[in-house]
Formats: sequence, C-alpha cells, structure tokens
Amino acid sequence: MAGFAGRAGQSALRIVWIYPDLLSTYGDQGNALILAYRAAARGHAVERVDVRSDQPVPEQGDIYLIGGGEDRPQRLAAERLRKDPGLTRAVQRGAAVLAVCAGFQLMGHTFYDEQEGVLPALGLIDVTSHRGSVRCVGEVVADADSQLTVGGTGLGVLTGFENHMGTTLLGEGVRPLGAVRTGHGNGAGSGTEGAHSGKIACTYLHGPALARNPALADLVLSWADGNSAASPVDDGWHLRLRKERLAAVGA
Ligand code: GLN
Repeated sequence: MAGFAGRAGQSALRIVWIYPDLLSTYGDQGNALILAYRAAARGHAVERVDVRSDQPVPEQGDIYLIGGGEDRPQRLAAERLRKDPGLTRAVQRGAAVLAVCAGFQLMGHTFYDEQEGVLPALGLIDVTSHRGSVRCVGEVVADADSQLTVGGTGLGVLTGFENHMGTTLLGEGVRPLGAVRTGHGNGAGSGTEGAHSGKIACTYLHGPALARNPALADLVLSWADGNSAASPVDDGWHLRLRKERLAAVGA
C-alpha cells in the first residue's frame, strides 16, 4: 500500500484525536471511531493516537480531529495548542483536519471567551469567531458545498446537532461547508454552516458529524489516502441514523 499524505512509506493511517480530556462534547469521539471503521473496511491499517492536553501533538499524523468544548476547556486548549507547533506543522505538511465547534473556532484567528473577551486561536484557516446574541442550539440541516466531492459525487445534505454561543465569519478564500436549511450553523444571519480550505474541514455539527454524514467522513479520508475512500462501505446503520435525524426536522 502507498504511504499517506506527506508520509512516504508509512502503511498505517494515523488518526490523531486532539485533547479528548478538554474537547469532546456530544459524542465527538465518534468521529475518530467512524474514520477508523471506514478506513479499516477499505483495508487500511489504522493507528489511533489520543493526545491529552498535557502531551505534545505529534507532527506525523494523517488526519487530526478536534472537537467541541465549553468555554473554559476551550480557553485552556487554545493556550496549550498555541505553544505546541505539532498541529501547525502537520497542516503545513498536508495532513487533513476535521474540527468541530470549539475546535472550529480554534482553527481560526480569534474566538470569544465570556471571561477574557477576544482570544487568539491558531490561525490555520481564515475565519474569525465572535460572541453571538443568542445560543444556537438544535438540529441543523445544510446542503453541502457542491465543490466538495468524493469519487465525483457530492456530499448531499449535512445533518447534525449544534450548541454554541459563538458565530463565525469566513474570510474571502474560505468556502462554507454547507448552506443552512434548518438551524444556525455559522450564525449571524450568514446562512452558512462550517468552513473548508485546503484539507481543513470545520463544522458546528455534532451528532457525531461523521456518523451522521458518512460522505463527510469519506471526504476527509480521501484527503488522506488519495481517492480510495470512494470504494463502498456498509452504510446500514449510518443511513438509518441520518434518516431518523433528518425526519425529526422534516427534511
Ligand atoms: N464554547 C464555544 C461556544 O459556545 C463552543 C461550544 C461547543 O463546542 N459546543 O461557541
């Protein structure tokens, strides 16, 4: 088997889950499980690395996952990640990232903390987060950006659960992950949900996002392994979950 992005000769897909002790709300750990399941179903050896917040982020990963969190853990995560070059170097090397909610905000330039006000984040994608006027909570349905495809097929409808105070503005070179039909997504009347640029995908969706949206899981996998993610995997229970959650909001 060929090596993965930027790691010639490596045969196991390395999935790095950043700070499970601080950032993992609403089952975000499920994103790591889904990626590992789908990669293994396609014959990849998978190595999962969980990086606690007192540990350095390894540079040699293929896919990095960073999840949601309350304000205080998010603040701590920002402080620690800003001192750790691991994720930035991995992105520069061409690794893929899926960042959810607080993780999404941390990938941008700044985010808002109730106690401290505007705080610096990692600046790995050109987005800026602010404090919104209402809590965005509930089910989200969004039409995925048509520029995102796996094996020539679009991602279709995105489904997930959101719970955040932050709103996020996208810079000019950054595209939304989807256009909101139901819910708030990036908020502030933008009508957009999430963001993507290069091999970084960001979303406000929990659920976990990749269990509810197997096509999004395959997109992230395809960024890491070329296009082998296009080969089919048994989607039985994922599709039942999707159908049930979409039906719950009449989509
Ligand atoms: N603390 C952030 C906010 O409220 C992120 C919340 C989350 O990750 N669920 O906007």
